[in-house]
Amino acid sequence: MSILDKFSMAGKVAVVTGANTGIGYAIAQGLAEAGAAVVIAARDQNNNEAAAERIRAATGGTILPVSTDVTNRDSLNNMVATVSKELGPIDSLVNNAGVGFRTNALTLDDEGWREALDVNLDGVWKTSQIVANQMVDRKTGTMVNIGSMSGMIVNRPLAHAPYGIAKAAVHHLTKSLASEWAEHNLRVNAIAPGYVKTEMADIDDPRYQRYWVDDVPMKRYAMPEEIAPMALFLTSEASTFVTGSVFVIDGGYTIW
Ligand code: NDP
Repeated sequence: MSILDKFSMAGKVAVVTGANTGIGYAIAQGLAEAGAAVVIAARDQNNNEAAAERIRAATGGTILPVSTDVTNRDSLNNMVATVSKELGPIDSLVNNAGVGFRTNALTLDDEGWREALDVNLDGVWKTSQIVANQMVDRKTGTMVNIGSMSGMIVNRPLAHAPYGIAKAAVHHLTKSLASEWAEHNLRVNAIAPGYVKTEMADIDDPRYQRYWVDDVPMKRYAMPEEIAPMALFLTSEASTFVTGSVFVIDGGYTIW
């Protein structure tokens, strides 16, 4: 097997949550380019179908859009059943779905706190548990959690404590699940991106240039396509001895 063959996802089934836009979309397209049949698992099925059509047109791959809410176990069970029926068992899961959340810690109510953790932490946990139960039967599988450098530093100037807390917990969940599931031959890793241009952040707002661009050693933010290759590395056989690791992709932000 040549080194590039190790990155092939031919014959594999990969689920990417939150893949109808942004980082998830770029990862879904990257995995499809590498040969995987890819499931776009986000809530808005119109957006899922539109994204699937674009990736099919670009790659000629098999792309299955399945409306999925990662906060809801029934929805997740339905997604796994649909994928199993249409494409077969899941080989790889990318837990990418997430929501940005700006808050003031003095006024944040319990509902707001719960909402931020529901998607960004509980969603990763529920999806991982449900998919892992299928993977352990086959004794193979890879998972990649999209954490954030916000789980390592506190972002400026906008506060969002529960978001950063959720992402820090996702990093630790990654290590915990990697530890528990290694005996089942499941590998679990995380990616911690820095600032990436997507719908999530007003990244081009000149008020934030000083913090989100000037403070980055590389003096720019990332595009989603710059996160996707790491997701391919971690889902594929290129990374067979890698588990429980968190890979920072931040243009150097956390150096300073
Ligand atoms: P976007 O806002 O562009 O996309 C978020 C995606 O998540 C959408 O597809 C959305 O689709 C989906 N989603 C939201 N809630 C749910 C839910 N309950 N169930 C299923 N899908 C859901 O975000 P990004 O691409 O910017 O972010 C992707 C991931 O990367 C997130 O986890 C984010 O925290 C992380 N990240 C982003 C950074 C950035 O700078 N952009 C930096 C570091 C990390 P729908 O609404 O149809 O469900």
